[in-house]
Amino acid sequence: MPELPEVETTRRGLVPRMVGRTIQDVVVRDARLRWPVPRDLARRLRGAEVVAIRRRGKYLLFDFPKGHLLVHLGMSGRLTMVPEDRPAKLHDHVDVRLDSHESLRLNDPRRFGAMLWIGGEAEKHALLRGLGVEPFDPAFTGAHLHALARGRRVAVKHFIMNASVVTGVGNIYASEALFRAGIHPTRPVGRISLERWNVLAQAIRDTLSRALDAGGSTLRDYVSATGEPGQFQNVTSVYDREGQPCRRCSRPIKALRQGQRSTFYCAGCQR
Ligand SMILES: [Zn+2]
Repeated sequence: MPELPEVETTRRGLVPRMVGRTIQDVVVRDARLRWPVPRDLARRLRGAEVVAIRRRGKYLLFDFPKGHLLVHLGMSGRLTMVPEDRPAKLHDHVDVRLDSHESLRLNDPRRFGAMLWIGGEAEKHALLRGLGVEPFDPAFTGAHLHALARGRRVAVKHFIMNASVVTGVGNIYASEALFRAGIHPTRPVGRISLERWNVLAQAIRDTLSRALDAGGSTLRDYVSATGEPGQFQNVTSVYDREGQPCRRCSRPIKALRQGQRSTFYCAGCQR
């Protein structure tokens, strides 16, 4: 599913093609996403200029003079720029047509994504106001994590994947960051020292930076705004490498189940 690096890669691809452009029309072929696409979206957006495109967690915010278009890619969503006359394929649910004769096209086979209108202040919307700190925000530090973790027994992997703690760290990036920091994924958060939290905060940023440089990860459906798959899945240290030798100590990488997800780690390098 698209995580911070994939959403940010999408955003970077859309900015030069969309910001400053005017919406001509919105075509909704199927409004049944996680929440229905608003019926009046075309009326609200026709003639409006895209002022900016921002990201908060895994949400994209398209800023217009009178409000914001909020987009979430869910499990399988992709946003690509296509020529306006390209025929729609299966699961191409929404086209946002621009005055450049291109369309922003939302494709989402599993339909867990969302496309909603926010009339007021975006940060106060119910989906955004509970989000934790951004990993590239200076407020995201070891001390911040240490304070939130005090007295808690939750496993560190669950903790760093909780969007109210830090946004956008999905399964692949949580496994990779914990390997980089040398911390075992099941370690209870209340038993991690401030020093180790500092190492982990930096490891999360380094992991996400490397993933951004690789254009994100493509495990199933994801492609960038220009149709390119991500490459990070090809260079992981532990993710999806069960039984293969650790790149640091040569012991076989192990896998365990945490909740619904697989976690990959090295028993030699992570304590
Ligand atoms: Zn190792």
